[in-house]
Amino acid sequence: MRTTPPPGARPRCGLCGKTKALMETECCGRLICDDEDTYVAFSYARNSCSRNHRRFTLCGYHHAESHIGSWKDCSLCRHGFETELYVWYGTNEYNFEKLEGPPSYEPTKCFRCASVIRLGEEEYAVLGKRYTCAKCMAMEMDAMLRRTPASSRQRTRATGSGKKPGRGRRVRRG
Ligand SMILES: [Zn+2]
Ligand SMILES: [Zn+2]
Ligand SMILES: [Zn+2]
Ligand SMILES: [Zn+2]
Repeated sequence: MRTTPPPGARPRCGLCGKTKALMETECCGRLICDDEDTYVAFSYARNSCSRNHRRFTLCGYHHAESHIGSWKDCSLCRHGFETELYVWYGTNEYNFEKLEGPPSYEPTKCFRCASVIRLGEEEYAVLGKRYTCAKCMAMEMDAMLRRTPASSRQRTRATGSGKKPGRGRRVRRG
């Protein structure tokens, strides 16, 4: 169903309200910013209305996967994600219409520090059923980086002549 704007009103993006460079979404025929070219590849920025709607909503997903009927009662969509993500995809601000009566779910918690991870909005790592929050991920990475150079430094010192390493002075032979 399309909503016609009141007479005299300028067409606007249904998400952010801007009136410049609009297009119709393929999935639901709504007016939206034609701004996908502002997205920088792999930047993971969420500054493009059309991209956000296409990538981060059930409406966009449902259309991209060629499901039939409405995304709101589509069982393929319902089972395509874990409940938390399903609800996020169906109710975030990139939707024109939100999922009504979204199912409830247990919050996802980091298996290391037990803090709640909001799957749609935060970074995390998942291994099987174990979720790790971004903080713990960074700490793990840190510990890993610290471990490696420390051990190799020790080895160098043990076998070295005890001299301080030269300051970039190099003697070339031949
Ligand atoms: Zn917009
Ligand atoms: Zn749509
Ligand atoms: Zn679907
Ligand atoms: Zn954590």
